[in-house]
Order: sequence, then structure tokens, then C-alpha cells
Amino acid sequence: MTEYLGLPLSVRDNPRARRVLVKLIPGQGLQVVVPRGFDPGRVAGILASKRSWIERTRAVLEADGADLTGRTPDLPDEAAFRATGRTCRVDYLDRPGRTTVIENGPRILVRGPKDDPAALLDGLVRFTTAKAREFLLPRLDEASRRLDMPYSALRVRRQRTRWGSCSARGVISLNAKLLFLPAELVDHLLLHELCHTRHLNHSAQYWALVASHQPDFVRLEKALNRGIADVPRWFA
Ligand SMILES: [Zn+2]
Repeated sequence: MTEYLGLPLSVRDNPRARRVLVKLIPGQGLQVVVPRGFDPGRVAGILASKRSWIERTRAVLEADGADLTGRTPDLPDEAAFRATGRTCRVDYLDRPGRTTVIENGPRILVRGPKDDPAALLDGLVRFTTAKAREFLLPRLDEASRRLDMPYSALRVRRQRTRWGSCSARGVISLNAKLLFLPAELVDHLLLHELCHTRHLNHSAQYWALVASHQPDFVRLEKALNRGIADVPRWFA
């Protein structure tokens, strides 16, 4: 079985999984995560039992503009990290086995199986997510000290649309896609999340605090809301 309801289907086993998980992943389609040793013959029955959830979730995601057909985006030959002002050339070297990515000056070299573009892309995406963390962490630390707004930990993940969040425990999550936004917007988002360490809401007091550090916040918030369009398709 490679498709279900016209969606590409992949079955992945995860030794840490306790039960079967069905996921809809933008850009990939349906993914079924199964515990090790799971009988693949049971996947069809599980999908059938989840059919209405799959249809509902698909409708919601597609209404939001997500592409669930799983077409692998074209591999980029250039990566323009707007936040850092760096543009790198991306080269691919055919090599069997696991994809590895190295950086050599203004070049990114992706080594992996040429006949598996999804694996090459996955390697490049993981590399870029790590780069995003390298860029965001010192910047967040600097802003946190300057504003005297401590936070407890940073998580950087590639989230679909959300730029960031801040938990009650002061854990700040940032979207790796920020690497493709202008630095001005990244800095504004850092301020936005750090202010949540004082007010865990969007109350009038919260916005007053934001405004006291960034009077132009309305324009920047609007630009952030449109920013997702600036993320290249291979990392979207
Ligand atoms: Zn907020």
C-alpha cells in the first residue's frame, strides 16, 4: 500500500512508539508510525478506522493552503538566508547511504543518494534547522540580557506557520524558518516572545511593554504575519 484516499502513504517504525500514530504531514502526505515488530498487514484496518479523522484533518490543512500530495519540492541550487545576509550555493554529490551535509565557505555540500531526492532534501532541511539554532540562540541571549527578560530554554523547530511561542516556564520556541526572514523581523519576534516572559497573554499591558521597546510594533507584527510567503518551498 503506497497511497490512501489519494494521499501518498509511508509507514515508518519507531522503536520508541507505544502505539500506532497516524499523521498528515504537509509536503509528504500520510504517515503511519508503528512500534517495532508491528504487523504491516494491520495498517489498512487502522487507516479505515481513522478515515473520517483523516478526511476532516485534510480538509482543514488544505483550507489553510497546505500541500498534502507529497510532491518533493525541487532541490535548491542556492539557499538565501535572509536573516544572516548569506547566500550559499548548494551542490549535491552522489553517494550511497545516509545523507550528510557540510559547509565549505559559501558552499553547502549535500552528499547522499542522487536517486532519493527526498533523502537529500531531508538532510538539507536538518542542516538548515541546525543553522537556524546557531543563529537564533546568541541573538536571543543578547536580547534577553539587554531587555533584562530571562528565559529558561530555547527550542528551534521547523513549524508550519507559527513563528514562535513562550511557555509558562519560560521556554521559548522559535521557528527555524525565521532564517529566511529579514533580521528586523527576527529581532521583533524575539522581543515579542521575551515580553511573554512578563505577560503570558496578549493583554493591553503586554502590548504596552512591547511598544515601550519597539514603537513600530504594529508594522512589524503585520510583516511577520505575511512572512511565511518569504520561506522557500524546499523549507516551507
Ligand atoms: Zn504572542
